[in-house]
Formats: sequence, structure tokens, C-alpha cells
Amino acid sequence: MAQSIPENVVEEIRERTDLVDLVGEYLKLERRGKNMVGLCPFHNEKTPSFTVSPEKQLFHCFGCGASGNVFSFIMKMDNLSFPEAASVLARRGGVKIPEVKSSSPDKDDLKEKIYRINKLAARFYAYCLTSTDYGKKALEYLLKRGIKGDTIEQFMLGYAPADWTGFLKFAQKKGVSPDLMVKAGLVSPGKERGYYDRFRNRIMFPIFDISGKVAGFGGRLLIEGGKDGPKYLNSPETPVFDKGSMLYGLNLAREEIRREKKAVVMEGYTDVVTAFQAGIKNTVASLGTALTTTQARHLRSQADTVVTAYDSDLAGEAATWRGLTILQSTGCRVQVADLPEGSDPDSYIRAKGADSFLNIVNNANPLMEYRLSQLKKRYNLSSDKERVEYTEELMSILLSAVNDIEQNYYLKKAAEELNVDEEALRSELKKRRRGGRRYKDVGKEELSWQQKKDEIRPAEKILISLMLQNKELAQQSRNLLQLDYIDDLRVKEIVKAVWDQVAHGQRPEADKLMNRFEDQQIINLITEAVTDPSLQDLPPHIAKRMTGDCINQLYQVWVKRQQKELQKRIKELELQGLDEQIDELLRKHQHLLVRKDGSPYRLGEGGDFNG
Ligand SMILES: [Zn+2]
Repeated sequence: MAQSIPENVVEEIRERTDLVDLVGEYLKLERRGKNMVGLCPFHNEKTPSFTVSPEKQLFHCFGCGASGNVFSFIMKMDNLSFPEAASVLARRGGVKIPEVKSSSPDKDDLKEKIYRINKLAARFYAYCLTSTDYGKKALEYLLKRGIKGDTIEQFMLGYAPADWTGFLKFAQKKGVSPDLMVKAGLVSPGKERGYYDRFRNRIMFPIFDISGKVAGFGGRLLIEGGKDGPKYLNSPETPVFDKGSMLYGLNLAREEIRREKKAVVMEGYTDVVTAFQAGIKNTVASLGTALTTTQARHLRSQADTVVTAYDSDLAGEAATWRGLTILQSTGCRVQVADLPEGSDPDSYIRAKGADSFLNIVNNANPLMEYRLSQLKKRYNLSSDKERVEYTEELMSILLSAVNDIEQNYYLKKAAEELNVDEEALRSELKKRRRGGRRYKDVGKEELSWQQKKDEIRPAEKILISLMLQNKELAQQSRNLLQLDYIDDLRVKEIVKAVWDQVAHGQRPEADKLMNRFEDQQIINLITEAVTDPSLQDLPPHIAKRMTGDCINQLYQVWVKRQQKELQKRIKELELQGLDEQIDELLRKHQHLLVRKDGSPYRLGEGGDFNG
């Protein structure tokens, strides 16, 4: 991979990082034979096909094809560039990186700059809140709501002053250009000239990414109304802030969520802050109303069960249901906490205490159950007209069931309640299912990003798998295989790289090899090759024979193609009466009949390509 981190440092980071430990920080792994398996964090699945090999230090998903080593894992998981991933892992493993020059200086530089100015802004807002006169009102507001000094510090809460240039002037004095402040989403260019602060007279909630860096901000108006904009305002999308993939509070909640295997999702920043302070530490907030697929996967990678604790308005919205259905489709158990009408976790915990709130969370209903009970509340089933409308909506909810067992269970219940024939209801449902897409398929759309690999011949795939097993097999291929025999360009690159390792007296090592390539498809191929269970632990003589067979097969196909080509040329030359040239052509193609090791070729025979 493109990098300006010295190779020996990359090597050291790799050695100090155990892939199983690293992956284990994001998802649960279970032992299966020599490997560890878990639910893939990169696609939706309910049975684990994400495989980590402790021995090889590689991962591979048999579902979506994602694969790689410690670097690729964290790059994919946390959306990092290689230098970023290397520095995260270096910090984790206690390795010093001399000086990181990134591969795309402009882009990564900008990201770093934005992180830095975000940190500066967070400190500025925090200072305004706790140590200035104009921040007093905001501080009083928070204290009055029971938020303690420690909590304010922990969440780095702040206050954005009401005048239009408070942060702008401060940051300019620190040498930050307004252009960069705009890129970070902290100031906006004025209509005619100049710049002004985006966040004014707001309580500021820095939004941290998983690694604890400030990615963006959420601001809540201190005094509602007026010309300072909506009650809640987030940072715009920036190179480091993607609202749809972040969860507020996850940096603090992650450990507890993993311990409890359960996460509580709330709506607002203050909900999370209040819950956290009350000792309920497995809580996060989605930054929009509905959960996105990326957020759902983040949650699923940490928790088995997700309980939503939204206020009743939000819980009623269609977008909310869709988000929860997506979450459910990732394999999470989704439950809905039934908060009393008009209350949210913040107000409820302040009024009734943490234990009472936890009681509601622990008695949360399964998503389907909750939806159906909400639906029933809205209709008067003794009216025929309303019964029809009710049944209509009921159908669409039943179609979003996780599986047939769940669907059948609620279908039976509904039939009893409506006092209609169960079979009639079932056939109605079938009709609808044929017509429309099931909700549970929604999350699958994202799989289409995965490019279809052009078909690679099995012999080529098996061969790289064998070559990567040990020096002897790699050497055998070096003696007998010509690169011309290989069709696939990516396989060719891998073969060349393995030969290069062997030529330098090294053992072929997939993990190391991978860092030479940037092409994700090549990385996938390497991982697939070394994790294919059918080719591992073969007795040496079998592995050797298989290697010979593969080379032979590739050779035969190649020779036949060459001969066909040759015959075509000869025919052309005959037609033109150029017999002399035919002789020359035949002489030139003598090499077809001699193999790389000098032994003669006999078409149709196999098995003696065994070095
Ligand atoms: Zn996968």
C-alpha cells in the first residue's frame, strides 16, 4: 500500500497487533476449529460467516468477500486511510512512528486540520460555558437540569456565544484561516462579505468519533425563537463528519454496551448525558430521527439487543420504524421502551430516577409487538370501515417480520383479535408479499456495491493458495510455471510478489504480502486463498501433487490456445503461398513444446509437473 511510513515500522505495528484482539473490540468472536467466527460488520447477516484466522492474522467474510489484515480491518471499520490506520494501531501497540507523511497529503492534511480546529472549538466553547460571564446563563440552565460539573467536563459541553463572531475572532487570533473554519462547518460566509459563527447562543455538544476525536458538533438553542435558527443544529457534513454514520456518546458507551451486549438508543444529546450521569452508560443517540444502515451495523457489532427509548412522538414516525426495521434486519433483537406519553429519557430520569427508567428499559417490548399495539390504539375495530384500514396496515407490519415464526405468531394473534379466518389472512399476506419487497430486504441493497469479480479459473485460485503455504510449493511453482499461463492479471501480480519473496529467501507470507498492494480485489484474493478451509493442512505430498496438477492444467490450456493461434496463422500464410514464413513461424514456436524446466511437452499427460 502507498505509504511513507517506513516498512520496518509498519512491520512492527503489524507484529504488535493481534487481529483477534482487534476484531474482538468491535464484534463477538467464537472459536470454530482453528478459526474464530462472528457476524460480519460489513454486511447484514444472521449466521456468522466472518472468519478470522489467528494463525495467519487475516480475516475473510464468506458472505460479502471483505478481507484483509489488521490494517485493512480498521481502515474499513472506522473509515480510515492507511496512514490513519497505522497511527491508530501504532498508538494501540505502543509503537512510535517517526513522522507520518500521508499518501494523499492534501486530503489527509485537511482532515487532520479539521480535527485540530474542532478540538480548538470544543475547548473554546467549554471555556465560554464555565469561565465567562456571558456563559453563565447556559451553565445555570445545565445545572438547573441536574447536570453536574463532572459530567459537563466528561462530555466537554460548551456554550457558543451569542455575538456573531465570537469563535471567528478567537480562531483568527490563533492563526486559523476563515476558509478552514468554513470547511470545518464552524463559520459561514456572509451574504455580502465576511464570515459569521454558525453556532450562536447555543449549548454545544461535541460529537466524538470512536477514537475520541471531535468530529462535529450539535448545538441546542439556549433561548428558543429569534433569528438564531432551529432549536437543534448540527455541524454540516465535513470530511470528518458524516452524520449518518455516527452515534452520539458511542465513544463513552462502547465498553459498557459490549459488556452488557445491550445498547439503549435515545433521541437527544441531553438524554444521553442525563442517562450517563445516572449510571446508565450503555446509551447513545442517533443524530437524526431514523437510524441508518451504517449506524445499525455499528450497534449490531457491539450489541445483541438494542432498546430504543424515544419519546412517543418520534416513536410514531414512519421513518423511525424503517430505521428500526433496518436494525432488526442486521440481526439485532430490537425492543421498544414504552415511555409515558410526553416524556423523554432526560425528563423521565430526572423525575423518577434511574431505577424506574431501567425498569421500563428491561420490560421493553419486541418491535413487532409494540408496533401492533400502537396500531390497535389508533383504530376503532367495531367500525367496519376502520377494520378494513386496520387490516391493511396490519399486513404491511406483518410483512416486516424477522422470520416466518415471528410472522406466524402475530398473524395468529391478529386473526383471533379480528375474529377472522387465519388462512384467509395468510393468503392475503402471501399476495402482498409477492407484490412488494419485504422490509427485511432493505438492508441488503448495500451489498450491490460489491463488484462482481470476473471469474477466475479454479486452478489459478488453488495455485496461489498452495503457493502461499510454504517455501517448497512456492519454489515448485517458480520452477515450472510461466506467467503467460495465467489469465488473470491480479493472480499474476500475486504470483510475481510471492516469487519475489522466495527470491529474497523469505517464507511466502500472505499478511506481509498484502501491504504491497492497494487493489482491494488483490487483497481479497490473497485472503480468500489462505483462508479456504479445503486447502489447509494437506499432507505435503498431496499439496505437492496438487501444485503440479494446477500448473499442468494451466499449461495445457495455454498450449492449446497457442496451437490454435498457430494453426490459424499457418492457414493464412498457406493461402498467401508464404511457405518459408511458415517454417520460421514453426521454429519460433518451438518453445511451446518445451517446458520451463527444459523437459519436453506431451499433450494430454498430467501429474508430472511436480518439480
Ligand atoms: Zn461480510
